[in-house]
Amino acid sequence: MATYTGAVCRLCRRENMKLFLKGDRCYSDKCAYDRRGYPPGQHGQRRHKTSDYGIQLREKQKVKRIYGLTEKQFHLTFERADCAKGITGTNLLVFLERRMDNVIYRLGFANSRSQARQLVRHGHFLLNGKKLDIPSAMVTIGDEVAVAVKSRETVTIKDAMDSVVRRGVPQWLTLDKENLKGAVNAYPTREELTMPMAEQLIVELYSR
Ligand code: SF4
Repeated sequence: MATYTGAVCRLCRRENMKLFLKGDRCYSDKCAYDRRGYPPGQHGQRRHKTSDYGIQLREKQKVKRIYGLTEKQFHLTFERADCAKGITGTNLLVFLERRMDNVIYRLGFANSRSQARQLVRHGHFLLNGKKLDIPSAMVTIGDEVAVAVKSRETVTIKDAMDSVVRRGVPQWLTLDKENLKGAVNAYPTREELTMPMAEQLIVELYSR
């Protein structure tokens, strides 16, 4: 399936929760979900019965949309998580968190994951001193992520750095705000991922 290019606020309304896809706007009173917290469309306010399959599908769609992946990318990540040691659902979330675009967002170099993805693609970041423009690349423990020298004055990055204070940087990452770089200290634990996500439902969906 192609990348979704429609109005992203519809996705929050569809998933019935704030997915924080639009940076600062999500924290303002312009948030569409805060204004109209029901599914979009003509029949959005009707009550629907949901099957087990429907619940599992919605959970998968929600997590996929939080991280901004296509169906194919998400399924490949799931397959990788399924092959890895440990609990498949937890592996899936950890793999999603380790993506370069997510790390850039978590460190506060971008206001949203979609913005992070674009900045990475445009070559604004270095991984261990080398330019990396692949948003899906996975970081490992000990990696250093930095803003490229030519991009230090980029307004988008500077603005995002100002608002990272509100979100905070997770414990598994360290941010050196002065030098515009960050380090991966560990992989996130399940407890550190605070967005409500029922990954077991995704495992059940793909096990059908
Ligand atoms: Fe979702 Fe953010 Fe839009 Fe609110 S402003 S509906 S949280 S994307």
